[in-house]
Amino acid sequence: MNRREFIWTLPGLGASIWLTGCSIDPVTGQKTFVMMGKEQEIAVDKQHSPHQFSEDYGVTQDPGLNRYVADVGNRLGKVSHRPDMPYNFQTVNANYVNAYAFPGGSIAATRGILLELDNEDSLAALMGHEVGHVNGRHFAERQAKSSLLDIVVASATVAAASSKPQYGELAQLIGSFGGGALLAHYSRENEREADALGMEYMSRAGLNPGGMGDLMNMLNTQSREKPGTLELMFATHPMSSERVANTSRALQSTYAEAAKRPRQKERYMDNTSRLRSMKPAIGEQQKGESMLNQKKYDTAEGHLNQALRLAPEDYPGLVLMAKTQMAMNRPREAQPYLMKAKSIYPTEAQASQLAGVTHLQLRQPDKALAAFQEFDRLLPGNPNTTFLKGYSLEQMQNKKAAAQEYYNYLQMTRQGGQAQHAFSRLQGWGLVK
Ligand SMILES: [Zn+2]
Repeated sequence: MNRREFIWTLPGLGASIWLTGCSIDPVTGQKTFVMMGKEQEIAVDKQHSPHQFSEDYGVTQDPGLNRYVADVGNRLGKVSHRPDMPYNFQTVNANYVNAYAFPGGSIAATRGILLELDNEDSLAALMGHEVGHVNGRHFAERQAKSSLLDIVVASATVAAASSKPQYGELAQLIGSFGGGALLAHYSRENEREADALGMEYMSRAGLNPGGMGDLMNMLNTQSREKPGTLELMFATHPMSSERVANTSRALQSTYAEAAKRPRQKERYMDNTSRLRSMKPAIGEQQKGESMLNQKKYDTAEGHLNQALRLAPEDYPGLVLMAKTQMAMNRPREAQPYLMKAKSIYPTEAQASQLAGVTHLQLRQPDKALAAFQEFDRLLPGNPNTTFLKGYSLEQMQNKKAAAQEYYNYLQMTRQGGQAQHAFSRLQGWGLVK
């Protein structure tokens, strides 16, 4: 059997086939052709959202803040066109300005965006817009075909074949969902509908829909002042002057009365006080991340050092510093930051995966394997972890166990550099011809 035949005859998940058929659009009441039923939406959500949350440094460890954001979100979910969806609203630790929804109702706002808002109504606008995407079933329209595997394979194409892997190669295996690969990218039409639905739900929930205008003003100001932190937000939720104009028109007509309701400023300030006390540290982290992306590692390190002086126990701050050290090929220096990060947030997975990579960089494959196993326990379902376990076992000369992981990996995907590496090892060991 040649390689190509082997690859195609391996039993595997293959292409995911989504149910197709007619379904009632919950917003318009019209029959529409959709690619995903509710069960699929929930399944895709369950498969994808935990990886995105971890990519964003996990859910905040400020339970009061998380409860508050969930509370505001749930008030809107309840009055939406799909009140039966299993909504869950999270605040994630990422520093960039963004919010997003998965199709089953998992919705998140970053701490970066919460820092820029100043009243509950604009938080409700943010959540209402995302609830609008779930209700408009925009994810189903846009992304019906992508499974986690397609995304992983598309974004991680490196062949980790060298015996002494450098961070650059391994970086493509870790955090490989970066750049918003797991997030839905909406059309202008989707955005128009999500804004309109958001205001409708806010009005129904007794909130002031004027929060939508506040939110758009904030985004416009931020895009002038700190464009870097909004790139992903605008890539996924396209902004336009039309959105601003539609919103202000609706506020002057349909919602003229509701827009007179008082803005809830104090409650927002009370519930975000702990977060806001971290603003200087988060600002340094934002600068550090921007430098890290520009490969200006020394400058990044300076900002992150300052951030850690201001907030020494902050999980994202520690993980970002570890990434910077790893990018400078200083895995040994990265490790104490990762150990501290793990002790502060033991249930968040990202630090374990990075620790595994530092052990590979240091040629400690047994420790790498243990770290990847830990990552797998905390956050199952990342195909790259299967490959990385195989790779660690291969470095440990445990061919039998390595072959099993590589075989499992090839059952999930047959494309990309890792699949080639896995296949060539199975071939070299005489397990396939
Ligand atoms: Zn949107």
